[in-house]
Amino acid sequence: MPESIGFIGLGIMGQPMALNLAKAGHKLAVYNRSPGKTSALEAAGARVVATPADAVRDASFVVIIVSDSAALESVVTGKDGILESLRPGSIVIDSSTISPAVSRKMACHAAGKGANWLDAPVTGSKHGAEKGELTYMIGGDRETFDRAMPILQLLGKKHIYCGPHGLGLSAKLAQNTIQATMVEVFCEGFVLAVKAGVKPETMLEIIQSSMARAGITDFKAPFIFKGDFTPYFPLKLMHKDLELAAEAGYAQGVPMPVLAAVKEVYMAAKVQGKGEQDYAAVVTLLEEFAGVKVRT
Ligand code: NAP
Repeated sequence: MPESIGFIGLGIMGQPMALNLAKAGHKLAVYNRSPGKTSALEAAGARVVATPADAVRDASFVVIIVSDSAALESVVTGKDGILESLRPGSIVIDSSTISPAVSRKMACHAAGKGANWLDAPVTGSKHGAEKGELTYMIGGDRETFDRAMPILQLLGKKHIYCGPHGLGLSAKLAQNTIQATMVEVFCEGFVLAVKAGVKPETMLEIIQSSMARAGITDFKAPFIFKGDFTPYFPLKLMHKDLELAAEAGYAQGVPMPVLAAVKEVYMAAKVQGKGEQDYAAVVTLLEEFAGVKVRT
């Protein structure tokens, strides 16, 4: 049965996700802060609205995917935010990667309106969003998770229930800590090898024949070798996730010495003006330090 869905945030991830819901025949009302990102959705039959509140007025499901905690607070509790018109019994699926504490606060606000909230961050990047093959890490109550599954299945291939509110995000911050570190250290190793005279393609063959092989670096290597840093996941957002992970480590009493170092490398890349590029552009900072390029 077609559902009425309010969709908020049509960025790299949100646009293909919303398109998948529209193509499945659901009635979408879409909102994006700035204009110019709605034409594909309009062509797919979605209604474009002027405020987050308008997007959710008739919705039984709400999907949000915006940049960070401040953006989420703005579309939820800000002027014309969804709290002004959220329907009792509706389910909000928030896929923004934000602070677990902020997410729990938003879940309380939604509960005050009789609505249900899931923190539902994703991994799989732009290509996973386009194919409807994201992996979800989900926090909230189990019954809401089960009720949201018909919508979630159109967007992802795997949905992992993590526990109460905030735990989907706690898992996501851990996952991105691992992923950001793997990409950064892969780049360090390649800069070291290439400066010594080993060809990048030779080094890749070695890595792919060893226990150091990883899905994320298999995916990023061809882009790094071409110097193509078109954003799948903007570096500034990866840095934001590392900041959130460091905050979580501090709050929970978890020392994370490698995270502390890697976070500063991404920070340096960001202040060098690389924030809008894909996070694999971290290699260019390491290349500049070493005076060598990892290109085939
Ligand atoms: P993006 O392309 O930069 O899109 C960000 C979206 O947030 C845009 O719709 C933007 O609106 C909106 N936004 C930002 N600030 C806002 C504000 N103050 N009020 C209202 N809307 C605001 O980013 P993305 O790659 O789609 O990522 C979105 C979220 O998914 C982030 O939390 C990210 O960490 C997470 N994520 C991304 C990936 C990935 O591979 N890209 C993978 C997993 C998770 P405008 O168009 O007006 O700027």
